[in-house]
Amino acid sequence: MDRKLLMLVIAGIVAVASASAMYAAAPAKAPKPAEEPDDGVQGEYAGTYRPPSAPSPSEKAEAKVIGEGGGTYRCILTLGEGDKAVKVELKGKAEDDGRVRLAGEAGGASWTALIEKGKALSAMSGKDSALLTPAVRKSPTEGAMPPPGAIVLLPFEDGKKPSLDAWANMKGEAAPWVPQDDGSVLVKGGNIQTRQAFTNVRLHVEFRCPYMPAARGQGRGNSGVYLQSRYECQVLDSFGLAPKDNECGGLYSVSTPKVIASLPPGRWQTYDITFRAPTVEDGKIVKPATASVVHNGIEIHKDVKIDHVTTAGVGGPIKSPAPLMLQDHGNPVRFRNIWIVELKE
Ligand code: MG
Repeated sequence: MDRKLLMLVIAGIVAVASASAMYAAAPAKAPKPAEEPDDGVQGEYAGTYRPPSAPSPSEKAEAKVIGEGGGTYRCILTLGEGDKAVKVELKGKAEDDGRVRLAGEAGGASWTALIEKGKALSAMSGKDSALLTPAVRKSPTEGAMPPPGAIVLLPFEDGKKPSLDAWANMKGEAAPWVPQDDGSVLVKGGNIQTRQAFTNVRLHVEFRCPYMPAARGQGRGNSGVYLQSRYECQVLDSFGLAPKDNECGGLYSVSTPKVIASLPPGRWQTYDITFRAPTVEDGKIVKPATASVVHNGIEIHKDVKIDHVTTAGVGGPIKSPAPLMLQDHGNPVRFRNIWIVELKE
């Protein structure tokens, strides 16, 4: 073969090979939604509503603004209180000036709203208007210290990395979750279990769901508190959603919470759970487990019977006492300040 022709053939082969390598290197799937810093728009707002028919007094107004990714938002505006409250759902997008303009309808009336980042949310419909400012609600049991006799599972001290000594991975080795400078641990490397086993308990847990505006459903800030490693009380970013057994506070596949008591993602939330273990005789449950759950100070389950192991719970023969388990569902959820009081009755 002519030397020039040979060089051309080799160059051709190299070109085709690199083109196919580039093609093969192209990502097969879209990247998974990631945690984002708080954008100063999402969250809760509180203020007043002034209907034209009643110039005074003004009524209460509240809003939940939910980030949905790509600069889009959904807003649930509640005007007034009790039976007379009107709910308006609005949708909109951040504009170049950073303001978010939203629009929606309720009862045949068209509403528009404007959010000025970090400052105010104003809404209008004809002569009706509402003015709200950002509000930070806290759980009444946030930072609750363990009472005398409590077993501290995850000690909390602001600004100090907590010890995971009370925990192990599912093989009994050192827990792989990552202690943080803010006194919490970050979910990473699989589920973890307490080294100690428990029967009837009162449990305090604090958790923080990440802000993942592009994520949806079970992929948005998912983790879980598994009572006796079998029964999950769901951890999920369900801010602004309707209650379901698989949303935050749900006893997964067993019981729907009375309300979604969630705070916005990025805020610390609490579970205060009273759990009574099942009575087991000859390997059979003769009396099922029960749980009462208080989420951010609001009772969402009262003495609910749990008659089966929930999804991703530890299977096999029913054991009691059994360890507490926390779930790694692949999302950067954080936990802190976990303690348990053993109930003797
Ligand atoms: Mg879960």
